[in-house]
Amino acid sequence: VVTASGVRMSYGDTQVLNGVDFSVAPGEVSCVIGPSGSGKSTFLRCVNGLEPVLGGSLRVLGEEVGYDLRDGKYHPWSPKRFAAFRTKIGMVFQRFNLFAHQTALENVACAPVHVTGVSAAQARETAMEHLDQVGLADHMHKRPHQLSGGQQQRVAIARALAMNPTLMLFDEPTSALDPELVDEVLEVMKRLAREGMTMIVVTHEIGFAREVGDTLTFFDEGVVVEQGTPGELLTNTRQARTKAFLSSVL
Ligand code: ATP
Ligand code: MG
Repeated sequence: VVTASGVRMSYGDTQVLNGVDFSVAPGEVSCVIGPSGSGKSTFLRCVNGLEPVLGGSLRVLGEEVGYDLRDGKYHPWSPKRFAAFRTKIGMVFQRFNLFAHQTALENVACAPVHVTGVSAAQARETAMEHLDQVGLADHMHKRPHQLSGGQQQRVAIARALAMNPTLMLFDEPTSALDPELVDEVLEVMKRLAREGMTMIVVTHEIGFAREVGDTLTFFDEGVVVEQGTPGELLTNTRQARTKAFLSSVL
């Protein structure tokens, strides 16, 4: 589903990704950890085409992100092509990014209507099912400010699922939540994982990685330092940098 080799990216003169090698197979839950500023969010943004890859190769869902190869040359994607690509990828951020003036139901139904052109009635019906799946059937007419952080994050997950994505990206989805609200969000993610969704999850919830992660990857300074099964990486840490980081979060 995702194959990165030697991916480079910089903001101006600041090299942020220095040759990332990383892959995710269909149905896998791939957890990513690493210190602040190590490039985790930037990498996710490259995967869904929000940031340009400046070197190396990044293949996602069978395509070289941002480019079509025709006549032996790379042709950059049009904005429309990027938008079509992104409909296949759901993204959930640390901050819920819900539309404040819309109800939970409207938040979830919005993209299918505007992006894929399904009827409003159909979108509402599907949105209700998605909200039910994340345990919010009773809250669908509330606006974000009437919901707890955990409920808002579950709406954000339902909203991403409403587009029927093939791949879900989570960027520290629980790190802005009060501790007592973390589990309800992790439970929804665990269910998605059990249903076979392919997911990349940036998280410092080591318990989650251990329980549902197929792989655990440690990022530092814009490269993948170490990757393995969570069991391997947590008990048989090879790299000093990984060890130091793990001792700071465990
Ligand atoms: P965190 O754990 O704090 O979320 P991260 O691993 O997700 O960190 P990134 O957000 O990918 O790290 O940032 C990597 C580097 O890129 C950092 O040095 C950051 O300051 C820089 N950076 C991120 N976004 C931008 C931007 N829009 N413009 C310039 N520099 C940026
Ligand atoms: Mg980040």
